[in-house]
Amino acid sequence: MVDLILIDFNEFETIQNSLPLGVSLLAVSKGHDQESIRKLSGYGQIDFGESRLQEAVPKKNELNDLEQLRWHFVGTLQKNKVRGVIKEFDFIHSVDSLSLLERISRISQEEQKTPNLFLQVKFRHDPKKCGFLKEDLLNSWSKIIALKNVNLIGLMTIPPIALNSYQRKDLFCECRNLANHLGLKDCSMGMTNDWKEAVEVGATWIRLGSFLFGKRRT
Ligand SMILES: *Cc1c(COP(=O)(O)O)cnc(C)c1O
Repeated sequence: MVDLILIDFNEFETIQNSLPLGVSLLAVSKGHDQESIRKLSGYGQIDFGESRLQEAVPKKNELNDLEQLRWHFVGTLQKNKVRGVIKEFDFIHSVDSLSLLERISRISQEEQKTPNLFLQVKFRHDPKKCGFLKEDLLNSWSKIIALKNVNLIGLMTIPPIALNSYQRKDLFCECRNLANHLGLKDCSMGMTNDWKEAVEVGATWIRLGSFLFGKRRT
């Protein structure tokens, strides 16, 4: 058996240095313990992503001496978790419907918060993924920008698993173009297996999990 272990500081620096100016690295720490997060924060990493509220809260509590950390929610957000996520997270990458966005706006007003939001868009048919369809997003746009206590900063997308590298790059390009069209600065796109393609066509946030936390070594 080989253990899954964190990359070392030099490897981390190599990735950081390879990112163009304006591209931020989100370390997706779901499934990894607070000690791994602490170690990575010791390398200078500030932004961490989690996909389940129940998993994130105890880890955040253990790490609350690290005041510089910023927490990003990246998982499917269920209605009954909205209040908890708004209280615990600074960014939500996975706002996948108008009804969810309206709920976030309403609860954010009650909690006097203004979370930074990415709208998740589904550019291809994919039964496994949630997200706005491009047409629906465009049709709802005037309604969306009128919502209070939400800071809309960008779009997020995850390509269907079956795409090849060229098809993924096309999809990432579409996401960048739509964000530009809507006047949104950020695109959260690119994971361990496709972040280079995403960065080439304008990602501003890449979300890396196993690349940082789970590199196999014998
Ligand atoms: C788990 C996860 C990631 C990180 O995936 P890796 O392939 O391990 O880099 C990124 N984004 C989302 C939404 C995730 O759920």
